[in-house]
Amino acid sequence: MAEELLSILKTLLTQPTAPFHEYHVRAAIEQQLLDVPHVELGNDAFGNLIATYRKGKRSTKPVWVLCAHMDHPAWVKSPGKGGDWEFLGGLPKSIVEKKETRALKRESGEIAPFGFEVKFDNEKVEAAACDDIVGCAVIVEAFKEVARLGIETTFHAAFTRAEEVGFLGAWHLGKHWPFGKEAVFLSVENSRPVNGAELGEGPIVRVGDKLSVFDNQLVELLMRTAAEQGIRVQRALLDAGACEASALQACGIRSAGVSVPLGNYHNIGEDESVVPEFVMLDDVRAMVRLLVALVGTEHTGIGERSIEERVTLRMKEYKKHHEGGNAKFEELSA
Ligand SMILES: [Zn+2]
Repeated sequence: MAEELLSILKTLLTQPTAPFHEYHVRAAIEQQLLDVPHVELGNDAFGNLIATYRKGKRSTKPVWVLCAHMDHPAWVKSPGKGGDWEFLGGLPKSIVEKKETRALKRESGEIAPFGFEVKFDNEKVEAAACDDIVGCAVIVEAFKEVARLGIETTFHAAFTRAEEVGFLGAWHLGKHWPFGKEAVFLSVENSRPVNGAELGEGPIVRVGDKLSVFDNQLVELLMRTAAEQGIRVQRALLDAGACEASALQACGIRSAGVSVPLGNYHNIGEDESVVPEFVMLDDVRAMVRLLVALVGTEHTGIGERSIEERVTLRMKEYKKHHEGGNAKFEELSA
């Protein structure tokens, strides 16, 4: 596989994972980032993997913290129950307990994910857990690309645990925010495209999720970055699910979210059958470009005016009309 991104995807997507059992994915990400120049790695007290790229004194405003979660719904061995399996994550019980679903269980130590192979064709990749391992892979490739380009900047990433049972890793991150007041949070997800968003039409800049609306200035900055770089994105409210930006925002951290459009969200296909998830490779590549541009450039807004600048200009431009209208108001109320 010639393209580095594809090889990262393959390496990460083949790691078995489950809520609380993300050790294989975390080790694979650490392995990928170990030799990347200017990158420092560490774990927080919850076991989230934290990575920082720092070259030179320059940093963007704001400083970004990119985040993807390392788990996916799967069976895990119930602690203290003599090895009974318990399914963790958001799939309806009626589907999990079907005979056909249980037949897909692939045991791997303490966990049992769905046993689907990772498959590539020219257009897409399918796997048991695109959500959110593709998000992890995208961030890893962004680190490598920023380092390769030798960009002087600072940015961070958090690879979190136990998102699928209610944002537990993200909540710890928000409550023990290690990145300073100026840093902002960006959830990098894989999500069901709704409200006009579609597979293959580019990364989605989320204006919100099922639980909250996101920071409008960060959303605007994402849209401006995409426009500057000529990256086609889709701006949409993805309210079919919730993401870690809602958790961080509830902790008082300025937050936004982006998503790679996902097929077969949480492995549910037609007629409630359990199938692999898939994403379109062009969407994944464009997401990497968007993140690299976001963390690596100043966003001075070439040719773009802020809302305040636009209104101030219009106020001048329409001064005579305003006065003309005012005169009529006064005449009629006299
Ligand atoms: Zn997810």
